[in-house]
Amino acid sequence: MAERRKFKKRYCRYCEQKVDYIDYKDLNALKFSLSERFKIMPRRLTGNCKRHQELVTVAIKRARQTALIPYIVDRKHVIENPFEIIK
Ligand SMILES: [Zn+2]
Repeated sequence: MAERRKFKKRYCRYCEQKVDYIDYKDLNALKFSLSERFKIMPRRLTGNCKRHQELVTVAIKRARQTALIPYIVDRKHVIENPFEIIK
């Protein structure tokens, strides 16, 4: 392969943990699908299955509305690991 992939293995992390419902308050479950700027990662990068990607999308959007996750991150506020602050 000429092109190096960012994510090597492609499997659904949520299927692996047998998650049926993703809680929007459970940020540990959501952070697999969030980029460092709190954007939702596309399925082609994370390898999530379609069913779980939809659950994650809904959960992340709910978490944004409840201000658990910011909608946008300024250039000033970009940090190495944003989840350390949240927890
Ligand atoms: Zn899955």
